[in-house]
Amino acid sequence: MKIAVFSTKKWVRQAFDGANKKYKLEITYLEPKLDIHTASLAAGHHAVCAFVNDTLDAPVIQALGKLDVGTIALRCAGFNNVDLQKAQELKMHVVRVPAYSPYAVAEHAMGMILALNRHYHRAYNRVREGNFSLDGLLGFDIYGKTVGVIGTGKIGQIFIDIIKGFGSRILAYDKHPSELAKKKGVEYVELQRLYEESDIISLHCPLTHETHHMINEQTISSMKQGVMVINTSRGALIDSTAVIAGLKSGRIGHLGLDVYEEEGDLFFEDLSDQVIQDDTFVRLQTFPNVLITAHQAFFTTEAVDNIAETTLDNLKQLGETGECKNSVDLSNVIGG
Ligand code: NAD
Repeated sequence: MKIAVFSTKKWVRQAFDGANKKYKLEITYLEPKLDIHTASLAAGHHAVCAFVNDTLDAPVIQALGKLDVGTIALRCAGFNNVDLQKAQELKMHVVRVPAYSPYAVAEHAMGMILALNRHYHRAYNRVREGNFSLDGLLGFDIYGKTVGVIGTGKIGQIFIDIIKGFGSRILAYDKHPSELAKKKGVEYVELQRLYEESDIISLHCPLTHETHHMINEQTISSMKQGVMVINTSRGALIDSTAVIAGLKSGRIGHLGLDVYEEEGDLFFEDLSDQVIQDDTFVRLQTFPNVLITAHQAFFTTEAVDNIAETTLDNLKQLGETGECKNSVDLSNVIGG
């Protein structure tokens, strides 16, 4: 099977070359992102392998179909960037890596909370410059605070296990509450109550039409003054304009973002010698109480190796049986 791997970075090549010693598939590494202008590079391949910021909308899938590409292998869990309707119409398989390391993402969310609360990002720079003042670095005990977790799937539940260790009270919301989480004593509440009572809110639900901009002007107005909001899930869960207003008014006291709704034009690239054109993003960078990382929550050795191994295994299963346990179709979307 011939695979065209789009958005190739050094770590992608290393991990896939390592895993492919076992699978022996024919891989073409392509640096460009997959979009309507680059789709033609997939000619002569049976499958494309794509990542979170590749475009797989209807025109791209149509173009891939014309090239006889039969499979889209996502090397990520989320599939919000794929027009599944179009893929189904063209009988194209879509496979993904449902879980590569939920620990990596949950641990990153916890890291963001600690860094924001105790201002590690600012303290690091101060001390390097010989400024040993503590003014402006005051944090709070996480012990005894209320932490709201939205989405209690794989990552959300691990995050709950971690934050429990700090002695926090946990409130959870999920469209489909987990029996396992309930057995572990997780208290499910209505979303409104979670917004009203939480000191820290961490987002771990997928991006769907229901969750798009769930953090908006109205929901922010019902949150506690000075609330900390952490998003390691998908950028468009948050309305960036509303969140900037919330930061300016002080309603949002800390914001941690590993994802951003317009990240496709920015993240994973070195733009350090360019003028960033996205004014909303640049405004977010100016706040001392905002910490942004560029979609790196997943980025651990264990996760990267799992991504490569599972992606190649998905393709092998499809090649041998025409089926794959990690297929995604429209029923996944309806299931939420
Ligand atoms: P999961 O499918 O195990 O859990 C998602 C949970 O969200 C499920 O329990 C589901 O019932 C719930 N949910 C669905 N719709 C909801 C809604 N409208 N409101 C509230 N909850 C809802 O997924 P996961 O592995 O825990 O991943 C969670 C998200 O993390 C993914 O969707 C992905 O977008 C994101 N992610 C980010 C990174 C990163 O590097 N930043 C890496 C992996 C995953």
